[in-house]
Amino acid sequence: MDATTPPPAAVELIALTKQYGPGSIAVDAINLRIAANSYCCLLGPSGCGKSTTLRMIAGHESTTSGDILLENRNITDLPAAERGTAMMFQSFALFPHLSALDNVAFSLKMKGVAKAERQAKAQDLLERVSLGHLAHRKPGELSGGQQQRVALARALITQPRVLLLDEPLSALDPFLRIQMRAELRQWQKDLGLTFIHVTHSQEEAMALADTMVVMNHGLIEQVGSPHAVYNHPASEFVARFMGGHNVLDTTAGKVAVRNDHIRLAPLGSTGWAATVSDVEYQGTYVLLGLQLDGRTDKDGSVSVMLPEARFVQQSYATGDRVDLSWEPSQAHVLAA
Ligand code: ADP
Ligand code: MG
Repeated sequence: MDATTPPPAAVELIALTKQYGPGSIAVDAINLRIAANSYCCLLGPSGCGKSTTLRMIAGHESTTSGDILLENRNITDLPAAERGTAMMFQSFALFPHLSALDNVAFSLKMKGVAKAERQAKAQDLLERVSLGHLAHRKPGELSGGQQQRVALARALITQPRVLLLDEPLSALDPFLRIQMRAELRQWQKDLGLTFIHVTHSQEEAMALADTMVVMNHGLIEQVGSPHAVYNHPASEFVARFMGGHNVLDTTAGKVAVRNDHIRLAPLGSTGWAATVSDVEYQGTYVLLGLQLDGRTDKDGSVSVMLPEARFVQQSYATGDRVDLSWEPSQAHVLAA
């Protein structure tokens, strides 16, 4: 391999399709290459096909058509256990009546591995996630963070190349969720594995992903780094779903402008007249809601984020009349 050869994809999806019944296409001929040793997040609203995609990669769901390659091996028709993938479920799904050790050893037990051997392997993995000393505890006797590490060890015992995670943090309280996602990110780096993580939270995906895959209605809308997707949303759907953007109908077509890139100017200066409809103090910034003149549809409401210091210099109140302005370079033309 020379410098011009791209590294092999850990997972490649080729025209992957899932149709559950007549007229209900959950995943619609998607193509995707996920780089080895990367953290990939599948992101999108509920029902867009994220879990179906993940389950097809895991082998828990049959494909209607298309192919799945893992490190250039076609695994489309292989049983789940022979793919080189492992799954970590929502809220970790540990067996409550089994010790951490037996939870981790469980899949080896199912494979018929002898007790001494599977327990030694499980103990070894628990040591790796710094839980060796708590191997005898049941999940109810462990903290949320410790449970996540048991779930991770349990998924890793089959020595997967790719770890699949379906909304692993969604059942946690917000504080623990933020703590746990940092830990997941660290584990992905330390283990040198490829993680594919399904979430409906754009904040979670941005915090975790090397590559974000934004899905909608069974299709991929955009693939890119969080920075690239946030700063150059490809479509109106992505701009709205990511949040923090305004979609504005200009003579050049629809554009997305970040709400911290819009400036307020004196009325009559730009031709984008609006009335302040809402003022929310958020600490480091103030979020203004505005309604564009002559517009009653959803494209007529605009949000503007003002740093607190600027708001202190010039404050605004509900009913104030202003014009909006932005730099042309900060308006991103959206695909029609
Ligand atoms: P997500 O994980 O993005 O919320 P899913 O992949 O679970 O979405 O679902 C995608 C679509 O497929 C939805 O319309 C859902 O109702 C449908 N679907 C999912 N699982 C099944 C199933 N077992 N049978 C029929 N339809 C399903
Ligand atoms: Mg789902």
